Amino acid sequence: MKPVHPAPADATQRKAVVPVICYPVETLPRPDLAALQAARAGWVKTGETLVPARDAATFRVPAGHFFRIVSVGGPQVGDLNLWNAADLSERFYSGKTRALHGTHLSTGDRMWSAFPHLRPLATITDDTLDWYGFDAFGGAVHDVIGTRCDPYTHNLLSNGGQYHHCCHSNLTRAFAAATGLPLHQAEGHVHDVLNVFMCTGFTRDTGQYFMKASPVRPGDFIEFFAEVDLLGALSACPGGDCSDEHSSDAAACHPLLVEVYAPLSPPQGWASPVRNGYDRRHGV
Ligand SMILES: [Zn+2]
Repeated sequence: MKPVHPAPADATQRKAVVPVICYPVETLPRPDLAALQAARAGWVKTGETLVPARDAATFRVPAGHFFRIVSVGGPQVGDLNLWNAADLSERFYSGKTRALHGTHLSTGDRMWSAFPHLRPLATITDDTLDWYGFDAFGGAVHDVIGTRCDPYTHNLLSNGGQYHHCCHSNLTRAFAAATGLPLHQAEGHVHDVLNVFMCTGFTRDTGQYFMKASPVRPGDFIEFFAEVDLLGALSACPGGDCSDEHSSDAAACHPLLVEVYAPLSPPQGWASPVRNGYDRRHGV
C-alpha cells in the first residue's frame, strides 16, 4: 500500500483509537477440556495412516474418538481438511475459525464448520509445540491464515508453470480416491486448511504473509478430538518445513503420520454438538 492522499489533521488521534476484539469469545460454548483429556486414559489405537511426502491421504475418525498428526522422519508441514463424513457439504471453515480463535490454533481451540452448520468439527486436545507462542517476527505455528499451496497461484507467479503436487492438488486427488468423485468435482470440496506445524505470520511493515522453518521435530504431534464423524485429508506439503519455497520438488520432504485412538468410554458429559441454532429466515 503506497499512500497517495495526505493525512488529515486529526490522523494521529484517529490512529490512536484502541482496538476492540471483533468476537469476544466469553459466550462461545467451551469444550470441557479436562473431560476430553481424561478420556484418553487407557485409549486404544485403532489405526494409522502414513501420508507420503509431497502427497496426501485421507482418514476417518468416528465422533468421540481422537486423532494425532505426528511428525516422523524430519521437519514437515501438513495441510489439513476436515469434512462431516455423513454430509460432505459441512466442512472446515478456516476464516471463521480464525475470527473466533485468532491466527494460530492450539490446545482448547476448535475447528468450526461452514455455514449453515457452524459447530465444532474437532477440538484440539494437545499440542507439543504450544511452547512456541509468538516469536520476535510475529510468527507462530498451526495457522489458519494461509490457504493451501495451489497450482493456480503458482501458475500466475511462475509465468505459466505447471506443478501437480501442491497441497491443493494432493488433497484433490486424495479426496477423489476416497469418495469416488470425478477429479474436478472432488476439487470443489477442497477448502482452506489448518496449516499443521507451519510457522507463519504477517510482516509488520507490509502485512505480507510470511513463512519460516517450522520448529517441529520428529515425535512432535498435535492431537484432536472428533466432535462429529470425520473424513479428514492431510497433505505433506511439497514445501517440507517451509523454510524456503513450496510449489516445487526443491525442498526436503518427509511423511506425516495420522494415528486414530478410541477411548474406553466417551468423555464424561460429552455429546456431539448440534447444528447452529439460527433459524435461517434471513429477514424474509
Ligand atoms: Zn502446501
